[in-house]
Amino acid sequence: MTLKIAVCIKPVPDPDHYDKITIHPVKKTITREGIPTIINPVDKNALEAALQIKEQVGGTVTVITMAPPNGEESLRELLAMGADEACLLTDRAFGGADTLATSYTLAQGLNKLGNFDLVFTGTESADGSTSQVPSQLAVWLEMAHLWNVAEIKLNDEQGQEKVQEVQAKMKIENGYIEYVVKLPAVLAVSRDINTPRFTSIMGVMKAKKKPLKVCTVDDVDLDRTLIGLNGSPTKAGAVFAPSMDRKGERLTGDMDEVVEQLLQKLRAAGINLEINNGSQGGGE
Ligand SMILES: Cc1cc2nc3c(=O)[nH]c(=O)nc-3n(C[C@H](O)[C@H](O)[C@H](O)COP(=O)(O)OP(=O)(O)OC[C@H]3O[C@@H](n4cnc5c(N)ncnc54)[C@H](O)[C@@H]3O)c2cc1C
Repeated sequence: MTLKIAVCIKPVPDPDHYDKITIHPVKKTITREGIPTIINPVDKNALEAALQIKEQVGGTVTVITMAPPNGEESLRELLAMGADEACLLTDRAFGGADTLATSYTLAQGLNKLGNFDLVFTGTESADGSTSQVPSQLAVWLEMAHLWNVAEIKLNDEQGQEKVQEVQAKMKIENGYIEYVVKLPAVLAVSRDINTPRFTSIMGVMKAKKKPLKVCTVDDVDLDRTLIGLNGSPTKAGAVFAPSMDRKGERLTGDMDEVVEQLLQKLRAAGINLEINNGSQGGGE
């Protein structure tokens, strides 16, 4: 009853270094070189979900990312957390990919690695945050799909050689919907599904020996018109930061005049000022 499980993970810029991210003036692409990365937080929940299922029924957990070469560090971290093997899809030709090109490349990478029963992703990345990759991935892979999954249970009927379906609880605005999902499936998990486990020293030691495959564009069966910047149907237009300038005004006069001017301005702005001159503190 073993399952072949994949987890898609994205290294994202470390929030402590967001100020160093720049946008290429012509290509409008994001330049992240030299900026330290962390694993997209919800992707650790996705790995935890995969590891828990593996612990119940057995199988393998493969982590995969499309990222620059330093994505290898993130993958090693996840191997240390418990994944069995890893695959880094990295090539200049993948650069500038929008979500469709990203999901296509990931799907072809997954197809190269084998037939997966379950593919886990996070619900959204901390940087791009489009949430489009999981659904697009499911379409490319022709798998069932649920997004915002907050709970998973296995339907492991007696006598079945393999788990055929899972029960999944999808979080919606005002509650949950329970589904039975036939495998293979792509499940995008939310952060409240579990608490990712800590990495042990033993895990770190073991990770050094676990297989980590690095695949370039030549290693994967790809339609090159569907990858990277050229294969991306969306092209970024103007990219700008919202103006954070604040209107400033100096009030002049003696204290009473300044206070009066200030009150007038606050009232004009629609702020209800109830000045309580009574004593405070509920005394006698
Ligand atoms: C026009 C355009 C140009 C862009 N140019 C660049 C660029 O030059 N350089 C650049 O770095 N980015 C670029 N991007 C961003 C790039 O498209 C996204 O990084 C990528 O497609 C993932 O989208 P997202 O971050 O919104 O992921 P979401 O859809 O929000 O992510 C959901 C989940 O999908 C999985 N996932 C997402 N991305 C990956 C990945 N790469 N590998 C494995 N799993 C993943 C994770 O499990 C994640 O939790 C561009 C985007 C657009 C629209």
